[in-house]
Amino acid sequence: MDFLLTEEMKMLKDMAYKFAVQEMAPVSRDCDLQEKYTPEIRKKAADNGLVAAWIPEQYGGPGAGFLGNAIITEELSRVDMGIGLNIVAASFGCEGVYFFGSEAQKQKYLPPVCKGETVSAGAFTEPNAGTDVAGYKTRAVKDGNDFVINGQKMFITNATVCDWMLTQCITNPEDKKHNSFSMIVVPANAKGVTRNKIHGKMGIRASDTGEIALEDVRAPQENLVGKQGRGFHQLMHFFDVTRILVAAQGLGLGIACLETAVKYSKERTAFGAPIGSYQISMQKFTEMAIRIEALRGLVYKSAWLVDVGKPDYTLGAMAKYYSGQTAVFCANAAVEIHGGYGYIEEYDVQKWYRDAKILELYEGTKEAEIMTIGRFLVSK
Ligand SMILES: Cc1cc2nc3c(=O)[nH]c(=O)nc-3n(C[C@H](O)[C@H](O)[C@H](O)COP(=O)(O)OP(=O)(O)OC[C@H]3O[C@@H](n4cnc5c(N)ncnc54)[C@H](O)[C@@H]3O)c2cc1C
Repeated sequence: MDFLLTEEMKMLKDMAYKFAVQEMAPVSRDCDLQEKYTPEIRKKAADNGLVAAWIPEQYGGPGAGFLGNAIITEELSRVDMGIGLNIVAASFGCEGVYFFGSEAQKQKYLPPVCKGETVSAGAFTEPNAGTDVAGYKTRAVKDGNDFVINGQKMFITNATVCDWMLTQCITNPEDKKHNSFSMIVVPANAKGVTRNKIHGKMGIRASDTGEIALEDVRAPQENLVGKQGRGFHQLMHFFDVTRILVAAQGLGLGIACLETAVKYSKERTAFGAPIGSYQISMQKFTEMAIRIEALRGLVYKSAWLVDVGKPDYTLGAMAKYYSGQTAVFCANAAVEIHGGYGYIEEYDVQKWYRDAKILELYEGTKEAEIMTIGRFLVSK
């Protein structure tokens, strides 16, 4: 057993953090205030091997595995979780193509995303069904060699900036609910696709989130990803892997909160001494640090297990659940250490406090993670 990162991973970690400091930090506040997506930073990140880092070299990716991808996500999220998401989620949806797609689909869709030339999206959630993944209503009906798709997707990351969406649709309504879905690649510029950006998010405001309407959209049969009728099961596997990325976001954000709060506590004095010298402050730092270290263990181990071909989906769900808890806890503590200043725009901790909450909501709410973990525990 070896808990040390390889030299290669250490270099990747340093490079990702330097990239974040140089390229993301200077525009972070502006992107948050203006809800600005950052295509140029994403392209630069792709040139540096930070986009779709988990995609193997044979499909044009850097081949850093899911552990490498988690480490990149951690380091980018130490600086800005929203801009970081524009980089690490530029390939969101590619996981479905990689795990279930044909060789031709992999060759067609994956390399351009790795190069930063195209952006993908995963269009699953609908206005009336999020946690209830079997409750989606979007319908794809066969017509000759095409599927004709009608429905609505909600809260889709990269909705208005993507080139294609891996879209969950009902194709087999006559079959049992869980066997009625299929994944279909829908080109974003297809006739009948309408995309609208959602404004006014609480956090990760640099990330593009939108709603998508599909009205008689035609996608050829060859865009079916995996097996017809297996979409629900494929999506479950998809989330099992992608939620590790979300868990890594909370790790990075937690670290940023701890580092920034400790630094501030040495500079700020109260009652004639730095606030960091008071045991109540130290207790906050201690609890933050312990949670961060525990989370690191969950994130790295669950990512590493995917890379060695022994994925532990319950562990991934634990990582995601604990990530939300850790990020929210650390951001709250960091704001408290900053006192009134922590409530003001000029200080990053207020942004991190807003960013953190999404980790308990997307890619499965914390309640959904509890259901996943709990079901496994009682099934034993
Ligand atoms: C910024 C952002 C980006 C997103 N990006 C994407 C994306 O790229 N692609 C995508 O498909 N989706 C995306 N989502 C959607 C996200 O995954 C969903 O919002 C999330 O899964 C919750 O679904 P919902 O909003 O419909 O809430 P609901 O499912 O309506 O849940 C509401 C509340 O009820 C609880 N609840 C539901 N069922 C149960 C139950 N059985 N027992 C106990 N409690 C329950 C939930 O935990 C939650 O607290 C994104 C959302 C946001 C905000």
